[in-house]
Amino acid sequence: MSVNYAAGLSPYADKGVCGLPETFDSAEEAKVKVETLAQLIKESQFLVVHSGAGISTSAGIPDFRGPKGVWTLEEKGESPRFDITFEDARPSLTHMALLGLQRAGYLKYLISQNVDGLHVRSGFPRDLLSELHGNMFVEDCEKCGRQYVREKVIGVMGLKPTGRYCDVVRSRGLRACRGKLISTILDWEDALPDVDLNKAENASRRADLALTLGTSLQIKPSGDLPLLTKRKGGKMVIVNLQPTKHDKHAHIRINGYVDEVMKQVMELLGLDIPKWEGPTVCESSTGASEAAQDVKPPRALPAKRRGKKNLVKDERKREAAQLTDNGSVKEETPSVKREREESPVVKNEEK
Ligand SMILES: [Zn+2]
Repeated sequence: MSVNYAAGLSPYADKGVCGLPETFDSAEEAKVKVETLAQLIKESQFLVVHSGAGISTSAGIPDFRGPKGVWTLEEKGESPRFDITFEDARPSLTHMALLGLQRAGYLKYLISQNVDGLHVRSGFPRDLLSELHGNMFVEDCEKCGRQYVREKVIGVMGLKPTGRYCDVVRSRGLRACRGKLISTILDWEDALPDVDLNKAENASRRADLALTLGTSLQIKPSGDLPLLTKRKGGKMVIVNLQPTKHDKHAHIRINGYVDEVMKQVMELLGLDIPKWEGPTVCESSTGASEAAQDVKPPRALPAKRRGKKNLVKDERKREAAQLTDNGSVKEETPSVKREREESPVVKNEEK
């Protein structure tokens, strides 16, 4: 592969729980659970999906904490196998099913921890997508916030300059912005993109159904977002082969391959899974799509960042983010409350 994502990150001691055994529901058990999930989707008013590395393994991209995951192998002193480059990877059945669910009006918002760019390249509308840990194909201008979706991976990680400059022509058309373009890929402890995180939090609060696919929900703050849905009275459904951090909060816990589950869900809903016809970038859920070629979306907010990508062991934050054992909600600490109130940007946007 042209860029080994994991090798580009700084060393970080605590990679979370890795290599837990994968378990599978029996055929009868799986059938009942998937039927219930399809019914919940049908009845939902605002479905939000949270996706993790487990939805891209069938596309040839290794996950992190699975039995053959990048961090699991690293613990054993082994290296992961990459069968494919990011440019050559094709969206999985799950990626395409999510696009189908969005087009059919069920899926209202998609939150991903994946950096492989497959949601964007599948044609999923970028205005309904938060990529909380960045995208290998996207760079943004540190001055005006304009994002560029490239055809090839950026090749730089950790929010560092890519060596290119913004060519947006400023108002009055006299000269270009010339701001430095920066990689969108987060390293450990890097802060998350403000706009994407705010939109993800708002959608999670608004959701009545949170479906998590292929994530162990260990990374903060991304992994805790489905709890916002539960806290507001919504339901959480978890599909993952390994145990996840929030299994006890799930309404249904499905142990099965995400592609198999999504295939059955689409059948039960009577929906077709769209065919993939090459990399496509769709900027807006109301607009037309374009070929993936240096597309410049109209995202003109300077890149502000907050929160941090990590596996924090800060107990106060943990308490604020988790539910108590009886399912009721613990009081938020003042520091977290303040953090949440500082989101004027999206409050205006979310109309
Ligand atoms: Zn710019």
